[in-house]
Amino acid sequence: MIYLDHQATTPLAPEAREAMLHWLSGPESMGFANPHSMHKAGRAAAAAVEVAREQVASLLPKGGRVIFTSGATEAINQAIRAVPRAETHPGIAFSALEHSAVVNSAIASGAMCQELPVSAEGLVDPEVSINEGTGLVAVMQVNNEIGTIQPVARLAERAHEMGALFLCDAVQGAGKLAPPEGADLIAITAHKLYGPKGIGALWVRDGVKVLPLIHGGGQESGLRSGTLSPALCAGFGAAAALAKARMDADFQHLYGLASLARSILSRWTLNGSETARWPGNLSLRLEGLNFPRLMSDCREVAFSAGSACGSGTGAPSRVLTAIGLEPVQARASIRLGFGRYTTREDVEQACRAIEAAALAQGA
Ligand code: PLP
Repeated sequence: MIYLDHQATTPLAPEAREAMLHWLSGPESMGFANPHSMHKAGRAAAAAVEVAREQVASLLPKGGRVIFTSGATEAINQAIRAVPRAETHPGIAFSALEHSAVVNSAIASGAMCQELPVSAEGLVDPEVSINEGTGLVAVMQVNNEIGTIQPVARLAERAHEMGALFLCDAVQGAGKLAPPEGADLIAITAHKLYGPKGIGALWVRDGVKVLPLIHGGGQESGLRSGTLSPALCAGFGAAAALAKARMDADFQHLYGLASLARSILSRWTLNGSETARWPGNLSLRLEGLNFPRLMSDCREVAFSAGSACGSGTGAPSRVLTAIGLEPVQARASIRLGFGRYTTREDVEQACRAIEAAALAQGA
């Protein structure tokens, strides 16, 4: 099977797996020790957690701290629900491209919410009108469905000018691009950057007050209770260090793969901006395409209709409709997500299979 669904999740890098093994081993190695215990084995585990924290921090701006969480969904919930906003600024504004982790936690918080529109290119206008009384603006770095890169530095400036904090969901950009500039809060997750599932982080700029979302033993300086997994931390850290070292090489590789795919799928229309985009994500549509049939005809290719979380509901993608596509166009779209370990042969074989299946159904 050819895996082209890297926005849903990425394979574990061998280096990350290797870094995890000691902390997963049996009683003889003491790698299982609780990193919050005071004995020697516990302190060794705690030291590994701190090494990992530094490695993860190296993907993020200077001048902040990393709180380990179970993933980006939890990090986003903490940013939205446990960072106090001034009484005069209770509102939350988020872009129409945001992941449901942002949208649903903002709605669940009970705050007044504003959805910021996006252009047909899949970009938020940096000068978009934001409601007065907004205390938190949330705009993602790279969209997970169409790969567009948002003008977050200017949007963060806009947020600050009106007395609001800026939250950036950098899940799809972390380890791939320079960190978002100007953000006060950044959410990332290991499993989108070749690390393990079940761990993520909330980065908090120094001076920004954050409260715990989860209460208990007071781990993570009281901000996120619960026993940390040294294995997950070590895997996240190793994946982050590797991503940092390979950032340019990965970008060039993916750029080449995207160009190859576009040359084979030349009849298909790109959803979202041609230029402000992450090359590992191609959202393409073809008039008349029957997506379920395509998927069943191309069972040996793992690709997706839109976001993994949204697919399966039958509803057209929220992001594709936000950029102005008709439901029928949104339903005739596919997402191809390339990764570090995808080869040119994979792309060639998968795209030829997809094109042949589309032609066979008359699309
Ligand atoms: N934000 C974006 C843009 C995502 O793509 C995802 C994962 O699908 C998430 C947030 C949630 O991340 P996690 O799976 O770590 O909770």
